[in-house]
Amino acid sequence: MTFNELNIAEPILKAVCEKGYNEPTPIQEQAIPVVLRGKDIFGIAQTGTGKTAAFAIPILQMLSEDSARDERSSVIEPGASRRDRRGRSHGKKECRAIRSLILTPTRELALQIGDCFTDYGKYTGLKHTAIFGGVKQNPQTEKLRQGVDILIATPGRLLDLIAQGEVKLDALTHFVLDEADRMLDMGFIADIRRLLKVLPAKRQTLFFSATMPKDIVALSGSILHDPVRVEV
Ligand code: AMP
Repeated sequence: MTFNELNIAEPILKAVCEKGYNEPTPIQEQAIPVVLRGKDIFGIAQTGTGKTAAFAIPILQMLSEDSARDERSSVIEPGASRRDRRGRSHGKKECRAIRSLILTPTRELALQIGDCFTDYGKYTGLKHTAIFGGVKQNPQTEKLRQGVDILIATPGRLLDLIAQGEVKLDALTHFVLDEADRMLDMGFIADIRRLLKVLPAKRQTLFFSATMPKDIVALSGSILHDPVRVEV
C-alpha cells in the first residue's frame, strides 16, 4: 500500500514524501480512508504507531477541500482583492475559523502534533496553532486573533480561552480526542465534559486511546456517532 493509493491530495503527498515516508503505517492505512469517508473513529493505538499522521493527513485534506469549495463560491475579479458583489472583503484572515480541534493531554504532545501539521500541511495554506497552560496567554491569543483553521490544545488553557471569548468553536467540523486514557488518568474528565457542551453536535469525531478500560468505552460512547473501530 502506498500513500498514493490512499487518495491523498498532491500538496499533502508532496509534503509526506519530503518527510521520507515511503508507505503508510498500519494505523494510517486503516484510519485515513475511514476519516476521508467522514466516519467517526474509535482508534486503539499507542504513540509511535504513526497515529498523529493518521488523523492529521485526512484532516488537512478535508479542510483543504472545504477551503477550495469556499473560494470557488466567492467572486474574484482579476487584479482585484477578494471582494463579493456587495464589496465585502473575503480576505483569508476574515474567512478563517477554527474547523478542527485536537485535544491532547500535555504541552509536549501539543507541540509535537503542531510540528506534524507544520510538516504535512506546508503546501496547503492552512494555519494552525497550539495552546497549552504554564506559559503566558498573550502570544497564544495573538496567534488566535490572526485566524487559524486548526487548533491543538490542552484542556485547561482551552477552557480558559473559550471563557474569555478568544476561542470560538461554532464553525468546528472535526474534533480529535488524542490519548483519551491518559487524559482520564490526569483527571481531565470534568474538563472534557465541559468542552463537549460547547462543541457543535454535528461534527466528525476521532477518538484515540492506547488502552480500552471501561471508563474509556463509556466516554467514547457518549462522544462518538456510529464509529468505525481501528486497532493496531
Ligand atoms: P506518532 O505515533 O504519531 O507519534 O509517530 C511516531 C513517529 O513515526 C514519528 O516520528 C513520525 O514522524 C513517524 N511516522 C509517522 N508516519 C510514518 C510513516 N508513514 N513512515 C515512516 N515514519 C512515520
